[in-house]
Amino acid sequence: MDTQNKNTCKQCGNCCREGGPALHVEDLEIIRSGQGPDLVHIVTLRRGEHAYDQVTNSFAPLKEELLKLKGSQGTWTCTFYSNEAAMCTIYEHRPSECRALNCRAPEELYEVYTHERISRRDLIPQGHPLLELIDEHERQCPAEEIARLATPATTGDAEAAERLAHMVRYDDEIRKLVPEKSGMDPEGMDFFFGRPVRTLLRQFATAVNIEKGGKMVFRKIPKGQ
Ligand code: SF4
Repeated sequence: MDTQNKNTCKQCGNCCREGGPALHVEDLEIIRSGQGPDLVHIVTLRRGEHAYDQVTNSFAPLKEELLKLKGSQGTWTCTFYSNEAAMCTIYEHRPSECRALNCRAPEELYEVYTHERISRRDLIPQGHPLLELIDEHERQCPAEEIARLATPATTGDAEAAERLAHMVRYDDEIRKLVPEKSGMDPEGMDFFFGRPVRTLLRQFATAVNIEKGGKMVFRKIPKGQ
């Protein structure tokens, strides 16, 4: 019987395909070193966004924002996982959750989950001009409100639809303008402003359509689409 490797990670890549890790204080060093993930590889999940919690195996609104490594090409597979090579491309500089991760012995990972998580402010220097814009974006497009208005906006609540339309336009605009004016990589906008409002709406099966004349409307996405 193979007892020797019962608890040894087989590096099958399954965990990497289920999504990138959340980032903790002990990951600050690898990020700042420039050898691990960069800001363009990180997505912010904002307070109030619905996110999957592996410990409780459920989706729930986040009480605090968290940062995690992005998925690749519209999938959950971690951006650093190479399907061709079947390996992590930053293995020596992988984040702490990945170091602790062993799906056949998850206790160590559960322990790392309890470590302090980092937020955008841990990676943006004080006084950075984008901090004010981030705060304004939070005021204009709070994730809790997006979750609350998504369904009413598809069922005839004109006020909800109008408020959501404002959020979608504001969010679209900021993601376009910041790279244009600053020369920053557009890939970094998911770090600075979180996932686009349009993406968050899809979590609630809500799609954004533009009617003739430019009016923005919201419709329910049928199951399976
Ligand atoms: S950083 Fe590497 S080990 Fe961690 S999830 Fe991504 S590919 Fe897997």
